[in-house]
Amino acid sequence: MLTPTERVRSCERSKIRVMFDLAEAADRDLVRLEVGEPDFDTPEHVVEAAADAARAGQTHYTSNAGLPELREAIADTLHQDFAIEYDPGQLTVTNGGMEALHLAVLATIEDGEELLIPSPAWPNYWMQARLADGVPVEIPMSAASGYALDADRVIDRMSEDTGAVVLCSPSNPTGQVFDPEPMREVVEAAAEHDAYVIADEVYLGLTYDRDPVGIAALTGHPEHVLTVGSCSKTYAMTGWRVGWLGGPVELVDEVTKIHESTTACAGSVAQHAAIAALTGPQEPVEEMYEAFAERREYVAARVEAMDGVSCPTPDGAFYAFLDVDLPGSSLDIAKRLLREQDVVLAPGDGFGKAGEGSLRLSFASSLEQLETGLDSIEAAVQEHRDEVISD
Ligand code: PLP
Repeated sequence: MLTPTERVRSCERSKIRVMFDLAEAADRDLVRLEVGEPDFDTPEHVVEAAADAARAGQTHYTSNAGLPELREAIADTLHQDFAIEYDPGQLTVTNGGMEALHLAVLATIEDGEELLIPSPAWPNYWMQARLADGVPVEIPMSAASGYALDADRVIDRMSEDTGAVVLCSPSNPTGQVFDPEPMREVVEAAAEHDAYVIADEVYLGLTYDRDPVGIAALTGHPEHVLTVGSCSKTYAMTGWRVGWLGGPVELVDEVTKIHESTTACAGSVAQHAAIAALTGPQEPVEEMYEAFAERREYVAARVEAMDGVSCPTPDGAFYAFLDVDLPGSSLDIAKRLLREQDVVLAPGDGFGKAGEGSLRLSFASSLEQLETGLDSIEAAVQEHRDEVISD
């Protein structure tokens, strides 16, 4: 019998995907709040730049590291918006942040070494660690603190087996923006252990109450930080697949080398689109940001006013991590909400054990959808309470 390798078999199917498939199979109108992508289309000037590039014959492989003009635009944006200092030579352009993370994990985790994952966290990290023949180690953060980064918990788990720690701030799925001090402490400790911090900052352009600062800008050890960014979320460009990895030049050069084994380079037309996104008019980005900020206010206020539903205030990204007072596992609750209320959320345990009991709501949907979805969640909790009273 043909069997895929253990490395591939050990990767679990995403629980978010389970809800996605159930929603697709339901064949009726549902309020879809499980998806993690902006509901906006890519700004028009970006689409135009891509069309112009394609017509002008910019349709060939680019260098593995990406177009020099794009790497310059990324370096300028990181400097201006997030105080991160990279030379264009310290950046490599990838097919989305996902490929940047995959390459970063391959480059920092030796066979059998550990990738430390403060959780709840994005499920791809587990998969990426396994595909690198590494060991993903979940380090649950406390729900009581709103899943703030507890540096001591992470540092206590570091050893000579630690290859890297992944820090995602703003966080998918909690919307938490970590405080600078614990992030700095984790980088210092990683440096002492000869390990790296992989800074997943694909949501860094979406913080609400505080100024975004990149992890690489916070520390005296930027050479131990690998910064992952992307056009996907900030510029509504998920389908274009343009991201980047920044870090010390020796490591980025090695990553650029192995880029040849995955995709060689990001799509040439998409790279031209990314140049337009980063260097062109920023009004469309500001408008999208304002919409996310308004939705976030709305969701936070609704949840605050609800009995039986709570969440840490989302400081960034477009997620609220809800604690919903309904019986059963996260998946049970998510299925019940779909079945009885026509609203779809992502089960929290898809983001590690620390997420069990919670549900991720994405507010990258319209205010109308959010209103209907939150009404439905409120109704489900109320119905359950009524049932318990009448039992
Ligand atoms: N990191 C996190 C936490 C994400 O949620 C995502 C996408 O959902 C990514 C990285 C990668 O995004 P992309 O590959 O579209 O840049």
